[in-house]
Amino acid sequence: MADCLFCEIIGKTKQARIMHETEDIVAFHDLNPQAPVHILIIPKKHISKLAQAKSEDVELLGKVQYAAMEIAKNLDLSDFRLVMNNGRKAGQTVDHLHYHLLSGRRLLWPPG
Ligand code: AMP
Ligand code: ZN
Repeated sequence: MADCLFCEIIGKTKQARIMHETEDIVAFHDLNPQAPVHILIIPKKHISKLAQAKSEDVELLGKVQYAAMEIAKNLDLSDFRLVMNNGRKAGQTVDHLHYHLLSGRRLLWPPG
């Protein structure tokens, strides 16, 4: 998708600290980490937000979530938070569906 920051990271025209990549998924370190571990996990397919996902994306969404779990396991994270913001008022700033994997400090609830 043109003018999508995360599609540029997928296409390697924009640099990022990629730490995991499969046929369908890329994971990279957040540029502005909110915790000692802050990784973004995204599908290579451009879906602007969860509300735009189609029934044909169900398997892909599962893969993204499963990849987050595997990354947490590989990093030996016993406690972590997986969050996805959908829409501006929920905190979404980049319009390419992504999970945030956060860990390494005590995480408060509710998140605010
Ligand atoms: P959200 O606010 O949920 O849309 O999350 C977008 C995230 O992308 C934020 O945590 C930003 O810090 C992060 N971000 C923005 N630009 C970059 C970039 N070039 N490389 C890595 N992370 C980025
Ligand atoms: Zn995109």
